[in-house]
Amino acid sequence: MRWRAGMSVPAGEFGSWLAGMRAALAGESDSDVPCGTCTACCRSRQFVHVEPGDERALAVIPPELLFPAPGLPAGHYVMGYDQDGACPMLVDDACTIYADRPRTCRVFDCRLFAALGRVNEDTPLIAQRIRSWEFSYADEATREQADEIRAAGRLDP
Ligand code: SF4
Repeated sequence: MRWRAGMSVPAGEFGSWLAGMRAALAGESDSDVPCGTCTACCRSRQFVHVEPGDERALAVIPPELLFPAPGLPAGHYVMGYDQDGACPMLVDDACTIYADRPRTCRVFDCRLFAALGRVNEDTPLIAQRIRSWEFSYADEATREQADEIRAAGRLDP
């Protein structure tokens, strides 16, 4: 079933998600987001940072779509978006370079913002999805940990 605004979506067990998110942020793994049919972050006028070590992404993204990243050393690029605000690598609602997508995309997990209680209304499609996530909790201690993180607005309160 296609996700629609207003539907709630299981975000997974909070403690497991937190461990995975920390590993992704540390560069130890990719995020594993149950996006389903959602492509909100691919259609939200986002500039995608492509890092110097992103060789697979650099090999598949047409060079004319990459621009030097402002304020960063040579070798850092950004990829912009099309006239509809969509990533140019998104075709028919599917990422055409998914297996070789940049690290920025591999790590992005909008559940982070749900966990932190932060919703950016400047990106309404993503904001809708953030509001839809519902975590489950293995035990009361994990629920309290989630409350602390949300109150502090950061993963390491
Ligand atoms: S907004 Fe969230 S759920 Fe939607 S595609 Fe991006 S990461 Fe996946």
